[in-house]
Amino acid sequence: MKLTMATNIYLSLGGNLGNTLEIFKNVYPILEKKIGPILQFSSIYQTKAWGNTQQADFLNQVLELRTDLEPQALLLELLSIESDFGRIRKQQWEARMLDLDILFYGQQVIQESNLQVPHPFLAQRKFVLIPLVEIAPDWTHPILKKSIQNLVQKCPDVSEVRKLDL
Ligand code: ADP
Ligand code: MG
Repeated sequence: MKLTMATNIYLSLGGNLGNTLEIFKNVYPILEKKIGPILQFSSIYQTKAWGNTQQADFLNQVLELRTDLEPQALLLELLSIESDFGRIRKQQWEARMLDLDILFYGQQVIQESNLQVPHPFLAQRKFVLIPLVEIAPDWTHPILKKSIQNLVQKCPDVSEVRKLDL
């Protein structure tokens, strides 16, 4: 008998092409089926595109889930869900239907060529930290050894991250 240990994970959802709210709503049941139960949903936030300011605003949300998948299997599932939603991968910071990133996989630190967890830019990005602090203020970043609350206070990102009134 193989014992699998479920792990709590935080995922970031982003998109700026098509009807992003509709895409988010459609992806929740797929995540629950392929990855595991969703334990918490942050609000959805609107942000100006980062790196390439000629694009439409982004919507971002963070979810906490519980999964039995190992990190690499989780990444494969996320990439396959992204491509099911018609993401076109042409250049960095391109417009996208759906971006699914692993922010944390429990307290594990993963440094592999195709997968870095915690997500390396997390502490620099308000559009990740603001939704994240809503559902995980006391979660500790396993490398920086600081709480999310603390990272938000120290984040130098000045971009406006606006909560959507839904
Ligand atoms: P970004 O999410 O930084 O805007 P992409 O989504 O285009 O960029 O990056 C995709 C690649 O990033 C994936 O193919 C995956 O191998 C790699 N990657 C590395 N770490 C992570 C992570 N924590 N979550 C998701 N993808 C990751
Ligand atoms: Mg990504």
